[in-house]
Amino acid sequence: MIEVVQTDITRLAVDAIVNAANSSLLGGGGVDGAIHRAAGPELLEACRPLGGCPTGEARITPGFHLPAKWVIHTVGPVWHGGGEGEPELLAACYRNSLELALENGVRTIAFPSISTGVYGYPKEGAAKVAVAMMRNYEARFERIIACCFGDVDYGLYRDLVGGIE
Ligand code: ADP
Repeated sequence: MIEVVQTDITRLAVDAIVNAANSSLLGGGGVDGAIHRAAGPELLEACRPLGGCPTGEARITPGFHLPAKWVIHTVGPVWHGGGEGEPELLAACYRNSLELALENGVRTIAFPSISTGVYGYPKEGAAKVAVAMMRNYEARFERIIACCFGDVDYGLYRDLVGGIE
């Protein structure tokens, strides 16, 4: 089932939360900064040996002090106008995160709206990619949560997911 919620993703007690990381995996602003602050310094130490992550791929670490057991770090595309494979790369973020989750026995997972902050991906297009990929996987999870930070995202995701929440 796909659920749409409006909250800070670091508060969610799910098996895994997804981090919209940058390719260094060494922390940044936005949701990445919030996740590192809430998880504690152990998260950076767990990310360091991973040696970064290419755009569209995903890596997993423990959640340390977070209520979530795992953090799945994925690197969204920077928006350059849409002609540089951004939709395919964004879809790959969701697909690779969900596959990695399945490999690790995750049953409940929450996503932020990847790439729609400093990476500049238009919110509506990003929400469509996200919900399409969540639908492909929803039967294999107990809960897939679209965690919206702002009112605009909350409205977009609610409209796309429809009556299910
Ligand atoms: P990116 O670099 O992939 O664009 P950002 O962190 O800048 O990543 O933004 C991604 C999305 O995460 C944005 O929609 C932003 O509003 C949202 N966001 C920021 N902080 C949080 C948080 N604590 N919980 C959930 N979503 C968040």
